[in-house]
Amino acid sequence: MNANQPSMTIRAIDVIRKKRDGQELTTAEIEYVVRAVTSGEIPDYQIAAWLMAVVLRGLTRAETSALTDSMLRSGEVLDLSELPTKKVDKHSTGGVGDKTSLVLAPLVAAARLIVPMISGRGLGHTGGTLDKLESIPGFNVNLSVPEFRRVLKTCGCAMIGQTSEIAPADRKLYALRDVTGTVESPYLICASIMSKKLAEGIDALVLDVKTGSGAFMKREEDAIRLAEIMVDTGKRMGKKVVALITDMDQPLGRAAGHSSEIIECIEVLNGRGPADLRDLSIELSAWMFYLGERTGSLEEGRKLAVSMIASGQAREKFRQGIRLQGGDEGVIDEPQRLPKARSSADIFSESDGYITGTNCEQFGTALAMLGGGREKKEDAIDPGVALEFHKRVGDPVRKGESLATIHYNADAKLAEAKIMVGASYFIAPEAPREKRPLIRRIIGA
Ligand code: URA
Repeated sequence: MNANQPSMTIRAIDVIRKKRDGQELTTAEIEYVVRAVTSGEIPDYQIAAWLMAVVLRGLTRAETSALTDSMLRSGEVLDLSELPTKKVDKHSTGGVGDKTSLVLAPLVAAARLIVPMISGRGLGHTGGTLDKLESIPGFNVNLSVPEFRRVLKTCGCAMIGQTSEIAPADRKLYALRDVTGTVESPYLICASIMSKKLAEGIDALVLDVKTGSGAFMKREEDAIRLAEIMVDTGKRMGKKVVALITDMDQPLGRAAGHSSEIIECIEVLNGRGPADLRDLSIELSAWMFYLGERTGSLEEGRKLAVSMIASGQAREKFRQGIRLQGGDEGVIDEPQRLPKARSSADIFSESDGYITGTNCEQFGTALAMLGGGREKKEDAIDPGVALEFHKRVGDPVRKGESLATIHYNADAKLAEAKIMVGASYFIAPEAPREKRPLIRRIIGA
C-alpha cells in the first residue's frame, strides 16, 4: 500500500458479507470484529449474522489463530507467577450431565497444584459449570481479578466466569452463540475455549473433547479435528496441552440438571457416585497431575487422585472453595439445602429389551425446555429441574419399567419433555455387541 494512501475503514457489514461469501478475512478484519464486539460498538444482530456466516463458511487456520489471539487479548492475561506451584486447568467442549470440573478443581488443588478455572454458562443443549455452581446458595462466580487471586492464593482453586477484565470478547460471543444456533463450529469453539484458558496464566491444560449424540461434535473425526486445532493453538502459545476424546453418546453420570449435578459431584468427592463420572474424573485429574509435573507418570497421577478422594482432602477443598466464594458450604453435608423441583414424573419403557443407544442431545433440550437452559440471553435458569437416568446403554429393560424421572416445577412443557425423553432411548431385543469406551482417544500426548 502507498504510504500516502489513507487506510480503508473496516465496516461490520463488509466483514459479514465477505464471510457470507466464503472469503478469507484478514487479521485486521478479525481484530476489528473482536474489538468492536468487546467495546459494544457492533449491535447484537450484526454479531449474530457474522457468527452464522462463520458457522456456515468456516475459518481457515490463519483466521482461527487471529480470532483466538484477538479474543485472548480482548482482556487481561493473568500472570500468576507469584503462586508457588504449577497452574493447570481442564476444559470440556460440553455435554449432557458433564460435570467433572466441579470434582477436578478441588481434587487437583487438594494435591497442591493451582487451578485458576474460567468456565462458561450453559451453551445450546449442554449445561455450564457457572450455572451449576450458582445453584449453591450465595456462590459468587463473578469475582474481580484481585478476589480471584486472593481465593487462588488461599485455596489453590477458584471458579469464575469470563469478566469485563478477562476474556470479555468470549463473554459476549458465548452468550449470543447460545441463543442463535451458532455453537457448532470447531473454529468458534476453539477460539472460545482457548482464549479463556490462555488468559488464565496456566502452564498446562487438559481438554475433554466430547463426541457422540450429546456433543457438539457428533462424529469422532470432527472431534479429533477440533482437538488437534486446540492442542496446536495451546502449544503455539507455549503451553503443555493434551486432549482426551471422550464418549457423549449417553449422559455422564445419573443426572442432568444443576442442583442434581452438584449432588453427584459431592458423592464422587465422598468416594461414591456414578462409576463413569468417577472414572473420568480420575483420568482427567491424572493428566492434570502429570502435565503439571506433580507426578512422574499417569499411573502415579491416578493413585494420587484416588488418595485425595479417600482421605477426604478433595471434599474439604471443595468446602473451602465454596466458603471463599460466598456459597453455603453446608451443602456438602446436607445436599438437601440445594434447590429441588416440586414434582416428578417417570418415563416408562414401552417394550422389553436392551438399551442400545440414546439421542443424548434431546435429553439436554428437554431439560432446557423445562427451565434448565436458556432460550433467550436474559432467561434465568431453574436449578431444581433435572433428569434422573435409571438406564444406561447395554442395560436390560422390562416393559413398564422406569427409564428416567423428570423433576420439574412447571407443567407447561412437561408433556412435550416426556415424549422427548421417552423417544431418546433406543431399545432393541438384542444387547449391543460392542461396549464403547469412555475414553476413545488421546491427542497431543
Ligand atoms: N466451551 C466453551 O467455553 N466454548 C465453546 O464454544 C464450547 C464449549
